[in-house]
Amino acid sequence: MADRALFLDRDGVINVDHGYVYQQESFEFIPEIFELCKKAQAAGYRIFVITNQAGIARGYYSVDDFNELTFWMVEEFQQRGIVIDKVYFCPHHPDKGNTELTRQCNCRKPEPGMILQAQSEFNVDITNSIFIGDKISDMQAANAAGIKKKYLLASRYDEDESISATRIANLSEVLDVFENA
Ligand SMILES: [Mg+2]
Ligand SMILES: [Zn+2]
Repeated sequence: MADRALFLDRDGVINVDHGYVYQQESFEFIPEIFELCKKAQAAGYRIFVITNQAGIARGYYSVDDFNELTFWMVEEFQQRGIVIDKVYFCPHHPDKGNTELTRQCNCRKPEPGMILQAQSEFNVDITNSIFIGDKISDMQAANAAGIKKKYLLASRYDEDESISATRIANLSEVLDVFENA
C-alpha cells in the first residue's frame, strides 16, 4: 500500500530563511518543526524535503556544502526520533550562473519534478499527502503533482490569490491535521 507523505519546503519551513543558507551557523530551526514531524510520523506519514537550491547554480556554495549541511540537518531530526526519508534538491537556475547548472529543468519549483521523483521512488499516495511551503511556487509545484492539502506559511513574498492553499501563520496550525489522521 502506498504511504502518505508530508512534503516540506526547507528554507522558511524547516529553518528561518536568511537567504542562501549553507552553513550550520546560519541554520536556525523553526521550533515547531520537530513536533510537527513527530506527529506526522506517528500518523504514518513519510517525510520528504523538497528544496530549490539555486545558490549552487549561482556559485554561492557547492553541492558538497549542501550535502554536508543536509547530513547534519537529517541527524538533528534523527536525534529527536524523526526519520527524514529523503531530501530532494534542485541545484539549477534558468539564467543565473555560468555552469551546466544554469538551465531550464523540471525539478525547480514551481515544477513538480522533485515531488514526482519521491512519488515514484517511495510509492507515495500523492492525493492524500501534504505540502507545507512558504512561497507560491511551493503551492504550484504541489498542485501540479496532484497534492490536495497545501499549506502556505505567512511569508514576505507576494501572494497569488488564484492559488488555492490554506494560509497559516505558523506550523502549530497544522498539528491538528495529524491528530485524527
Ligand atoms: Mg521556502
Ligand atoms: Zn532543477
